[in-house]
Amino acid sequence: MYLKRVELQGFKSFADRIEIEFQPGINAIVGPNGSGKSNITDAIRWVLGEQSIKTLRGSKLEDVIFAGSHGRKPMGMAEVSIILDNSDHLLPLEYSEICITRRVFRSGESEFYLNKVPCRLRDIQELFMDTGIGKDGYSIISQGQVDEFLISRPEERRMIFEETAGIMKHRARKREAEKKLEETMANLTRVDDILTEIE
Ligand code: ATP
Repeated sequence: MYLKRVELQGFKSFADRIEIEFQPGINAIVGPNGSGKSNITDAIRWVLGEQSIKTLRGSKLEDVIFAGSHGRKPMGMAEVSIILDNSDHLLPLEYSEICITRRVFRSGESEFYLNKVPCRLRDIQELFMDTGIGKDGYSIISQGQVDEFLISRPEERRMIFEETAGIMKHRARKREAEKKLEETMANLTRVDDILTEIE
């Protein structure tokens, strides 16, 4: 699997629709300071479900939407799509090409699509969990992240190893199962109370 293409429109400095094609192997993006190189990695993080505005180097939700420039009005919507070559079926879907799209409006309304079909943020997160590609995967190493790893607490470092080792998915499922178990126990206690009252 590899990242084939990124399509952006209205995202940060990219007012007009652009398509960036990638080839298998090493690709480099070069450009002057402030030309938008990091905005491209922000776009990839964002479409993979990043919810932290700080990580996206903004201070409010709408900072991902083109804010206007000399002679150009701000835009009302930002849209990013990534197209992944999945011909090796590393992602557990039958498609050999997978397109993930995220859209956000100034009103705060947000949408996700998987191969043009509306889906939930959770569907995207689950699809990439433990693949190393998701927003918490370590496929994107930003400036300062290596230093952060070196000074992180042992528990935080453990989370990094767990994502890399592919056990985050099971941890998330365990948490969900425990929550359901707690709810069932609470329901059973209620049933016991009612039965005692009836008897
Ligand atoms: P460097 O090489 O210095 O790290 P870079 O090529 O990575 O730079 P970015 O940080 O990706 O550049 O882009 C910064 C530019 O994006 C700034 O000019 C900033 O004004 C612009 N920008 C960021 N958010 C928005 C937005 N919402 N609307 C318009 N422009 C934006």
